[in-house]
Amino acid sequence: MAEPVDVVVIGAGPAGYPAAIRAAQNALKVICVDGWVNRDGGTALGGTCLNAGCIPSKALLESSELLHRAQSEFAAHGIAVSGIGLDLAVMQKRRATIVRNMTSGIGSLFKAAGVTAMFGRARLLAGRRVQVTRHDGTSTEIDARNVVLATGSVPTELESARFDHEYIVDSWDALEFAAVPRTLCVIGAGVIGLELGSVWRRLGSEVVVLEALDSFLAIADQQLAGEAARHFRKQGLDIRLGATVTGAQVVNGSVTVAYNDKAGAHSLSADKLIVAVGRRPYAANLLAPDCGVGLDQRGFIQVDVQCRTGAEGVWAIGDCVRGPMLAHKGKEEGIAVADRIAGRYAHVNYDVIPSVIYTAPEIAWVGQTEEQLKAAGTAFKSGVFPFAASGRARAMEAAAGFVKILASSDTDTILGAHIIGPMAGELIAEATLAMEFQASAEDLQRTIHAHPTLAEALHEAALAVDKRAIDSINR
Ligand code: NAD
Repeated sequence: MAEPVDVVVIGAGPAGYPAAIRAAQNALKVICVDGWVNRDGGTALGGTCLNAGCIPSKALLESSELLHRAQSEFAAHGIAVSGIGLDLAVMQKRRATIVRNMTSGIGSLFKAAGVTAMFGRARLLAGRRVQVTRHDGTSTEIDARNVVLATGSVPTELESARFDHEYIVDSWDALEFAAVPRTLCVIGAGVIGLELGSVWRRLGSEVVVLEALDSFLAIADQQLAGEAARHFRKQGLDIRLGATVTGAQVVNGSVTVAYNDKAGAHSLSADKLIVAVGRRPYAANLLAPDCGVGLDQRGFIQVDVQCRTGAEGVWAIGDCVRGPMLAHKGKEEGIAVADRIAGRYAHVNYDVIPSVIYTAPEIAWVGQTEEQLKAAGTAFKSGVFPFAASGRARAMEAAAGFVKILASSDTDTILGAHIIGPMAGELIAEATLAMEFQASAEDLQRTIHAHPTLAEALHEAALAVDKRAIDSINR
């Protein structure tokens, strides 16, 4: 009988592929199995993030933002342009090329690290035996000393609006529209709804977003959420809160969406309906009944804080386990598990995971919100610095938004940072590092920030925590 493989990773998304690479760096023999099939029937590494999520959406967000800026901001710079138009086919080709380069890049990383890639659907059998059914129907079985489950998540389907993938679509379909819908309805004002709604709004669609909750962006700091709602509405996103969708019907090439809110029953018609009401863990046909791995009530693979499942030597990471469904959270779990397998120390700090929403203005935060601190009865100080007072932001014609830092009244430790404005997703890295090192507001105050940069807004917000900001009025 063949020697067992040290590690079999199931899933080559942003959780699985780093786990495979780190395990190989730890001198373990690694096979990474992935069953992803693209719409053209081709296989690809990278999972949802690279093929159908983070990367293609960022490509379109960038392109659509450039179009919007050319149309509405260049004049303010004194740049006269005329005849600006959209060639959606070229924009979409660029998106597809970026995706292809990134996913084939994982293949190169695997080769360089010595990870063996296998394409097919894997199933975990008892005794850490992994059955792989290749796309041509043939199958094989591998014995593993360790198995890492990294199978990700899939879009949640609404009973009242089932996907037909043409008119009622998921986030992947909505990245690949071949024409700009004249009218677009989005169910769910969450991360995906706002990012995709923004893309198609900038490309010319009339967009209505229906959100079941009465509050906007309930997960974010509400000062940030309020500012975001104001900007999105100004951009023409018609966000309707407290709206419960009761049905969706495709008639004569458009979708009629019925919904209820406090005022009663309504309906609207749209060329396309994007359902973006969350994602659910994906473990379909993954686990043989006697493999020893359990699922919780919501379908997540059950793990402890170190990502161990109930079966010895079987681990699970990323979207298919508890915690936020974020690529970077999955990556850290993957690295940590690969180090634990090799007997090394590893730790994932679940309290310091940044979140980013790639709209314009961009939204990012790390740590606790003002509402969470109040609910926990934690005494805190707050410092806010508006980008309107930042020379760099003004020069960029991007002075909307602010940085808000929350610090403990007792110890001055930074408890949360919340940013809405230019490059918020990049700026949050400094606050994340500060929190990882348990920095105080004073630590940030005493850190020299280059001038003129956007990062100075973090410096000033830290100063504002003690009402000592220099470049804005302390309130
Ligand atoms: P989400 O949880 O961010 O938002 C879903 C929204 O839909 C919520 O506001 C919810 O209240 C609303 N909703 C739920 N049921 C509804 C209904 N029946 N009618 C109307 N509204 C309803 O989920 P998402 O936007 O679909 O994203 C899925 C996952 O992918 C999230 O975990 C997200 O963090 C992740 N993601 C992250 C990024 C990023 O980091 N930038 C980008 C895309 C997706």
